[in-house]
Amino acid sequence: MNNILWNQRWMYDRCYSGRSSLKKSFVEGVEEFVSKVSQHDCYDNDGGIRCPCVKCDCTRILEDRVVKVHLYKNGFKPNYWIWTDDGEHMPHVDDKKTKIIEIIKYL
Ligand SMILES: [Zn+2]
Repeated sequence: MNNILWNQRWMYDRCYSGRSSLKKSFVEGVEEFVSKVSQHDCYDNDGGIRCPCVKCDCTRILEDRVVKVHLYKNGFKPNYWIWTDDGEHMPHVDDKKTKIIEIIKYL
């Protein structure tokens, strides 16, 4: 789970306070996220990445570069990391959530 905690840190630490510029760690984290997710089977099956930004809420499948822009602009949806933490114990998950949990396991 250390890996997940690492993820969590940069995911919700996007901008410097009072400034609009993105933190380097966030930009690098997004790069890492996109490159790892795009190596996973789900990427081929879905034909893209389920965008985990605040606005898409993992409901839209988009190209890598579009997902990056969304994450830079909107940030990750709240509590995205909790699914990873509880993922294997969540009862009755639907296909969409299962896929996301699977993706996260590979991060
Ligand atoms: Zn999005």
